[in-house]
Amino acid sequence: MRELLGGKGANLCEMTGLGLPVPRGFCVSTEACTRYYEDGEKIADEILAEINEKLELLEKNIGKTFGDVDDPLLVSVRSGARASMPGMMDTILNLGLNDEVVKGLAKLTSNERFAYDSYRRFITMFSDVVMEIPKALFDEVFDAVKEENGCVYDTDLSADNLKEIVKKYKALYFKHKAEEFPQEPRVQMIESIKAVFRSWNNNRAITYRRLNDIPGDWGTAVNVQEMVYGNMGDDSGTGVAFTRDPSTGENKLYGEFLMNAQGEDVVAGIRTPQSLDQLREVNPKVYEEFAAISTKLENHYKDMQDMEFTIERGKLFMLQTRNGKRTAHAALKIAVDLVNDGMVTEEEAVLKVDPKQLDSLLHPNFETRALKAAKPVAKGLPASPGAATGKIYFEAKDAVDASKAGEKHLILVRAETSPEDIEGMSVAEGILTSRGGMTSHAAVVARGMGTCCVAGCSDVSINEKNKSFTDKNGKKYFEGDYISLDGSTGNVYDGQIATVKPELSGDFGTFMAWTDKYRRLRVRTNADTPADAEEAIRFGAEGIGLCRTEHMFFGEDRIAAIREMIVSKTEAQRRRALEKILPMQRKDFEGILEAMEGKPVTIRLLDPPLHEFLPQADGDIAAIANELNMGSDELRTIIRDLHEINPMLGNRGCRLAIIFPEIPEVQTRAIIEAAVNVSRKGKKVIPEIMIPLIGDVKEYKYVRNTVKETADKVLKELGAELDYLIGTMIEIPRACLTADEIANEAEFFSFGTNDLTQMAYGLSRDDAGKILDSYFDKQIYEFDPTARIDVPGVGKLMEMACKLGRGARADLHLGICGEHGGDPSSVAFCHKVGLDYVSCSPFRVPIARLAAAQAAISDKKSGEQVIHG
Ligand code: PEP
Ligand code: MG
Repeated sequence: MRELLGGKGANLCEMTGLGLPVPRGFCVSTEACTRYYEDGEKIADEILAEINEKLELLEKNIGKTFGDVDDPLLVSVRSGARASMPGMMDTILNLGLNDEVVKGLAKLTSNERFAYDSYRRFITMFSDVVMEIPKALFDEVFDAVKEENGCVYDTDLSADNLKEIVKKYKALYFKHKAEEFPQEPRVQMIESIKAVFRSWNNNRAITYRRLNDIPGDWGTAVNVQEMVYGNMGDDSGTGVAFTRDPSTGENKLYGEFLMNAQGEDVVAGIRTPQSLDQLREVNPKVYEEFAAISTKLENHYKDMQDMEFTIERGKLFMLQTRNGKRTAHAALKIAVDLVNDGMVTEEEAVLKVDPKQLDSLLHPNFETRALKAAKPVAKGLPASPGAATGKIYFEAKDAVDASKAGEKHLILVRAETSPEDIEGMSVAEGILTSRGGMTSHAAVVARGMGTCCVAGCSDVSINEKNKSFTDKNGKKYFEGDYISLDGSTGNVYDGQIATVKPELSGDFGTFMAWTDKYRRLRVRTNADTPADAEEAIRFGAEGIGLCRTEHMFFGEDRIAAIREMIVSKTEAQRRRALEKILPMQRKDFEGILEAMEGKPVTIRLLDPPLHEFLPQADGDIAAIANELNMGSDELRTIIRDLHEINPMLGNRGCRLAIIFPEIPEVQTRAIIEAAVNVSRKGKKVIPEIMIPLIGDVKEYKYVRNTVKETADKVLKELGAELDYLIGTMIEIPRACLTADEIANEAEFFSFGTNDLTQMAYGLSRDDAGKILDSYFDKQIYEFDPTARIDVPGVGKLMEMACKLGRGARADLHLGICGEHGGDPSSVAFCHKVGLDYVSCSPFRVPIARLAAAQAAISDKKSGEQVIHG
C-alpha cells in the first residue's frame, strides 16, 4: 500500500504483519496530504475527525492517554512518501510533552534528566519544523549552557541544566511567536502533521524530486507512532543498519549504534557510534534478535534493507525498513548476488538498479572522504558527470599550450565555449562555464567527450580579459590556480580533491548482458570521431544515431576551411573551400564506418548555427581574407551581413543546404566515396544520410533530390553498388504535424528533441538555464524539459509524428538523437511510443541500455511502476 501509506508507513504495517516489534501507531495517508493542498493548506474537518478517532483507538490499545501526567502517551510524527526521500522532509519526536507531563514522565521513569532532555528536544524540533524558528538559535542557547557548566558532551548536562535550557527555550519561543509554547498535545499533533505535509514542498524536497523523477502530486504520508526511547540509560540505544554493505555490496550485516541516545545523535555525529558487531558484546540477545529480523526482512523484500532500530531498556523495536540506497558498485554486486542466490529473477534484478547510477562507474570520481571535507565555492548545472581537479586556464589555446608543455590536469574556464575551443576542451579534464544551459555547446560537447563539465555557473563571474574569475564568496582565481569540479552535482571547489578511477567489474558485464536480453529498443550513440565511436562500442552501442558533421570541423586546423566556406561570396569560392573539406570529410567517414564494423551509421548533413562558426578575432579574419583574396574590411562586412538576430531560428540545417546546394553535394560525395572505400575492403556498410531541421516536405524533397542525384552519380563514377538510406530529423513542430507527408518521402525519422523542445516551448536552449531556475523556484515547472522529455507537450508531438509517419510508411524507422535519448524516463517514453532506437552520448549508452530494459520489463508486468529505493 505504498501509494497510499508512503514507503515508511507501508513497511511499518508490513513489519507489524510479520509479527515484528514495531511501536504502535497510525498513518495519515498521502491522499490526506494532496487534499490538504487542494483545500488551500487546510486539513478538512472529516479528516481531522478521523485522525482524532484513530488517536483514541491508539490510546485505548496502548492504555496511555495524551496529556496524562501519571502515564502519558508520547508520539513521533514522521514523514514518509511513496518513494524514499531520505532526510528531505521533517520529523517531530517526543510529542505530547508539556510543562506538567514532563514532571510526570520524570516520576514515571525515575529519570528526571531523561524527561527534561526529551522535552528540550521536542521544543527544538517543534519550534524549528512547525514554527520555523531557526534551530541555530536553540543551539546557541544549548551550547552556552553547556559551556557555562563546563560540559564536554551533551550527556554531561544535569537535570537542572536541562531544566534551565527548557526555560530559556520557552522564552525564546515566546519572543518569536508572542505566545506560549503550545501545551495541548492534540494541538501539537495536528500542527505537526500539517508541518510534515508542508515539508513535502520545501526546497530540498522539490530539488530531490526533480533529480529523482518523483512527481510533485504524490504527496507524503504522515506516521504517528508511540515513542520508544533509546536514551533511557545504558540498557537503551538506537542504531541504523543495512543487511549488506551499501558501499561494496558485501553480504554482511553492516551498521552503527549508540547506547543511551536518540536517533538524531547517531546522525548528528556528536558522539562516535559503535559498529554493529560490538552490539553482539554489549547485548548478545538483542543482537541475535536483530540479526534474525534482518534476514527475515531481506528475504521478505528480496532486496538489501536499510533499517532503523531502538532498544528501550533491553527491548528491541524496529522503527523503519526500506530498500537501502547503495553505491553503483554495490547495486550491481547485490543484483548479481540476489540472482545467483535464487532470491530474484534476472528481470527483477534489472529493475533494482537506478540507470542514472551507472554513470558513476564510467567516470573518475572524487575520493569519498576528500569530498566530504571540501566545501563548494559555487554551483552550476551538472552538465557532464565525473570529477575533475586541475589548474585553470581561461583560453583554449593556453590550455593546449600547457598540455603540450606536459601539464596533465587542467580545467578550462570560459564564459561559454565555441567550436574553436574544441582542442582546449579535449585536453581539459573539466570544463566550467558561467553561461549556457544543459544543451549549450559546452554541455553537449563535454558529454560527447565524456569530460566533466559544470555549465551555466552564474555563481562565478569570469573576467576573460584579465584571465581570472571570482567565486560566490568573492575569492579571485587566476590562471594556474587549482580548482575541482563535480560534473554530477554542479559543485565547484577551491583547490585539489583526490580522484579515483573506477574499474568496470565483472558484475557490470553480467548485469549489462541481462539488460540486453530484455530490452526491445536498440541503443545507438552520438559520435563524431572514430575514437568516440570506439568508446561507445565498448559501452555497448549498436550503431551511430547522430554524427554531427559540423563538429568534425572544430579543430583549429579545420575550422578555417569551414569558415572560408561560410563567408564565401561566390559559388566558385565556396566550391574551392568545399574542395578542401571533401578529403577531410571522406577520411573522417571512413574512420567512423570502419570503427562501427557494419553497424548502422547516421550521418547528418551540416547543421551549424552560423554564429558559432563565424570568425571573430582579427588574426582569423585577416587569414581568411587573405585566403579569399579580399581585404579584411570587406570580410568584416560579409560577417556583419551574415549576423543573425536569432541564429537558432536562422540559416541552419536544411536551409543552408537549400541556399547552397553545393554543400550537401560535397558532403554526399564524401559519404558515398568513404562508404565505397570501406565496403571494398570487404566490410559491410549502409550509410544513413540525414537531413536536418525540416519543417516542410518541400524542403526535404529539394535537399533529398540533391543528395540522391549526387549519390547515384558518385556510385556510377566509381562503378560501385551500395545501399544507402535518406531520411530526416524531426525537430520542428511543423514536421510533427505533417509527418505523414514527410514519411511519404523519407526512409527514416530521428527526433531531434533538443530543437523540438526549444521550438515547442519557444525557449532558447542556450538560455533556458536561468529561466528554468526561476520556474523551479516558483514551482511552475517540476522538471527540466531540456533534459527530460515533456510528455504532455513535446511527447504528444512525437507520438503524433510516429503515428502519422507509420501510417504513411509502415516500415518507417524511428529513432531519437536529442540529449533526451540518454535520460532514463525519456527512454521509457521512447519505448512506449514505439521508437526503434535511442541514441545518446557514449557515456550514457549503458544508462540507456538499462532504462530500455526496465521499460520493456515494466511494460510486460504492466501497471507496475519502476520505483527505486
Ligand atoms: C536536436 O536538435 O535534438 C539535435 C540532436 O540536433 P542538435 O543538438 O545538433 O541541434
Ligand atoms: Mg537540432
